Formats: sequence, C-alpha cells, structure tokens
Amino acid sequence: MSITVVGSIAFDAVETPFGVRERMLGGAATHFALAASFFDQVRVVGPVGDDFGEQELEVLRTRGTSTDDVEHVAGGRTFFWKGKYGWDLGTRETLDTQLGVFESFSPKLSEQARACDVLFLANIQPGLQLDVRAQCADARFVALDSMNLWIDIARHELLEIISRVDCLTLNDEELRQLTGKPNLVSAAREILTTGPSIVVAKQGEHGAALITSDQFFALPAYPLETVIDPTGAGDTFAGGFVGYIARHVGSGLSADVLRNAMAYGTALASFNVEGFGTEQVAAVSAEAVAERVAELWQFTRFEHVVVELVG
Ligand code: AMP
Repeated sequence: MSITVVGSIAFDAVETPFGVRERMLGGAATHFALAASFFDQVRVVGPVGDDFGEQELEVLRTRGTSTDDVEHVAGGRTFFWKGKYGWDLGTRETLDTQLGVFESFSPKLSEQARACDVLFLANIQPGLQLDVRAQCADARFVALDSMNLWIDIARHELLEIISRVDCLTLNDEELRQLTGKPNLVSAAREILTTGPSIVVAKQGEHGAALITSDQFFALPAYPLETVIDPTGAGDTFAGGFVGYIARHVGSGLSADVLRNAMAYGTALASFNVEGFGTEQVAAVSAEAVAERVAELWQFTRFEHVVVELVG
C-alpha cells in the first residue's frame, strides 16, 4: 500500500497569542505527510523554489516519506502563507498568500506515485487536484480537502473534483459556504449526493464529525490545556484519518475502521497544535500517539448505556 499526496508545500509566517514565527516549514501536503507517514509509505507531490533547502526536505522525509516527486523549480519561490490568530485561537485571518511556484505547476507524477492505493488531494488549486486525480486513476480510496479561497474563486473546478473522490474533509463553515446550506447535516448530505460516500466536517477545538449515508459519528478534540499554534491541524487530522484508512482499505471500510481513523486523526492533530509548525508531529513517537488514541476512547466510551423509555 502507498499514499500519494498533492497539496501546498510552504513556508508559513504565523502569529498566535503565544508567539510569532516569520518563516517555518508548512503547507497542507507537509502536515498531511508527517501524520500519514505513521501508517504507510507516503509520496509528496508538489513544487518548491530555490529557497527550499535540504533541511526542509529532511523534515518531509520523516518516517520514510518519499520526496522523489517534489519538483525543484529553478528561479522560483516556494508557496508562502501568512496568518494571524485571535486571542482564543478560534479565529484566523489570512494576511498573505503567494502561490509562487504553484502558479505555473504542471504535475508529472512518477510511476510509483501514480500507482498509489490511496490518494489525498490536500488543499491547493482545484485544477491541480483534478490533474493529479486523473494521473492516479487506479487509486482505491481518494480523499480531498479545500478551503474558502477556492470555494470563492474556483468553485466550478472544485465541484468537479469533489464529484471524483470518495471522501471530502472540510471545516464546518466551508461545508456551509460550499452548499449554501446553513445546516451542517443537510450540507453534508447534499455533498453525499454528488459523488463522495464519506464527509468529514472538521470543527476545530470541538473535534470532527463523520457523515455517511447511514452513519453519524462525532469525536471531540483531545482535551488539551495548552494550545500554541493550530496551523496545519486540519491537514494533520487528515493525515491520521486517511493514513489509518490506507492500512485497512484492502479489507473494506467498516464503521469501526472509520471510527478508529477519526481517533488517529484527532490524536495526531492534538500533537500538532501543541507547538509551532511541524516540530511536534515530526518528533512524536508511535507509542505516544497510541496512548492518546486509547485515552480518547476512555474519555468517550459509554460502556453501560441503558436505554429507557422516559416520561
Ligand atoms: P490548516 O491549518 O489545516 O487549515 O492548514 C494550514 C496550512 O495550509 C498552512 O501550512 C498553509 O501553508 C496552507 N495554506 C494556507 N492557505 C492555503 C491555500 N490557499 N492553498 C493551499 N494551502 C494553503
């Protein structure tokens, strides 16, 4: 099994109430790969510029991720994003987005990247996601993430690529914005009529909800008292969720598999937000991740539920 991911590989400038970073490794594909690398061989697809060095590539290669499909564009600049968080980290403002080398990127995947079992189309222009989807025609499970910017400026292409994937992961607000429906469940159900069989609504500090035609499953975020920088939490969640699915896609995606995938995504995202950028997830051990998954199940399992007719 192997996982191919296309999405932004970036330098981020971030300001949170707990500190400022002028330039750190980030990007949707980067955060996804760091989390998914616990489960399977990951291949990252995307361009970087002259400003991207061996040190950054080494981080991308954590736990054996392949950077063979990371294209160095001579004379180009790496994607750059700058954001600022409000005092409770619940709101985020984008201050700058510079596509750089992504502006003229035309993905040409290696044979190994095209032969992936699982494909994650992380946040980037929907046109690029469509291109990579077409090159990975035999993938058994394809998931996609996006954001408000692309809903605003590339809606048609975004809807087109959504119709060609198995799973859509979006924030609550983005699901509502995309469908024009104020209600989350009906927004998710509308998406389920357009192609995907799984919708995951990411809800920040409140966790995430999974909606299929016959399931609804919500998991709260791992309860942390200290959150430093939420940048990349959604992509890290997706890396854990999709990574776990990649391990099980061969034997079918039962409700238990999907629920455990939610738990791994949640546990990994909790490490991501405890520090700036990629530092925490790059360094965390598989044992520490498993411990948080076990704790999550302890917190949330209702072992002796009694159903009574009340009134
Ligand atoms: P998240 O916090 O999970 O929404 O992801 C944040 C990451 O997304 C940052 O590391 C950014 O580099 C990246 N990002 C921000 N804006 C965009 C965009 N327009 N397209 C692709 N990636 C982006």
